[in-house]
Amino acid sequence: MDDGGSLPVRDELRGQSPYGAPQLDVPVRLNTNENPYPLPEPLVARIAERVAEAARGLNRYPDRDALELRAGLARYLTDSTGHPVRTDQVWAANGSNEVLQQLLQAFGGPGRTALGFEPTYSMHALLARGTGTGWIAGPRRADFTIDLDAAVRTIAERRPQVVFVCSPNNPTGTAVDADTVRALYDAAQAARPSLVVIDEAYGEFSHAPSLLPLLEGRPHLVLSRTMSKAFGAAGLRLGYLAAAPAVVDAVQLVRLPYHLSAVTQATALAALEYTDTLLAYVAQLRSERDRLVAELRAAGCAVTPSDANFVQFGVFADAAAAWRRLLDQGVLVRDNGVPGHLRVSTGTPEENDAFLDAVRTLTKEHS
Ligand code: PMP
Repeated sequence: MDDGGSLPVRDELRGQSPYGAPQLDVPVRLNTNENPYPLPEPLVARIAERVAEAARGLNRYPDRDALELRAGLARYLTDSTGHPVRTDQVWAANGSNEVLQQLLQAFGGPGRTALGFEPTYSMHALLARGTGTGWIAGPRRADFTIDLDAAVRTIAERRPQVVFVCSPNNPTGTAVDADTVRALYDAAQAARPSLVVIDEAYGEFSHAPSLLPLLEGRPHLVLSRTMSKAFGAAGLRLGYLAAAPAVVDAVQLVRLPYHLSAVTQATALAALEYTDTLLAYVAQLRSERDRLVAELRAAGCAVTPSDANFVQFGVFADAAAAWRRLLDQGVLVRDNGVPGHLRVSTGTPEENDAFLDAVRTLTKEHS
């Protein structure tokens, strides 16, 4: 952004670049943690049906409270975790990015701070900046797990109003166990009544069960989820949260009226009808993810244990050069700026084979 410096943009945005991975047209794209499987045809037909129904009412604003959809999401969370979730505990928006933004609009803002443990999903810090919330970069250990003692010390010293716990964490794939979340929550409440947000965008891919049952008895805990990954619907833009009803009431104070279009609500409801079919793809992706971990190790890479649909691997003397060398072979992965490391999303078995071949070529060149 360059207009000679006279554009009256906010100081903290001056000279910044918008978030986003390169969208390059290459044969194997494994850089944005998408689900590689297109939606099944019967679901595509059902979406067309439900959207046609919605289209007949497009002269009217959509259901502002998205009640049918929130009920469907509550049912999905209840069925998939065994922990009962009610409609008034669920909120939905255009992608979990919008959910997280609304949380920061309601609970962060000027004069307040949010804490995350880096490296983590960089949108957490960017959403903080966009909402005028101060960002505190908390530590991780060298193995990318959260160092609980250091985390508790940071919380006690800095007293953030919002604490992000990304589990499984992007870009490392690291899951956070329930005991660690309990301890972080207690530390955050001891410092001040603050909001603890578990970003479980990749929850369905984890070896560990969802952290959702921790909501019980923790009124300031929020669990954020998305249909972009497990439901294979990144293009839909549908994220949601589960929390105490008071948290849902608070985000309603900042949401735009009618933020979730009737078309979005109809499409998401159709996808929920196909939950079982879509989760069968997740099972396949989980086993391919485990295969990627094993084969990368066999190829001599250091691999961070992954509970997500992607894998962080290294260690490269020059990660940017390794990224380029893979791209030369038609494989696009992500350089998240973690020194020595790259991240690959799990693709179809054929895409993963192409990626592994490219990595073997790369490691041979350097051995
Ligand atoms: N949280 C994490 C950890 C993510 O990696 C992403 C997407 N890359 C999101 C949230 C946002 O996803 P969406 O807005 O598509 O729901």
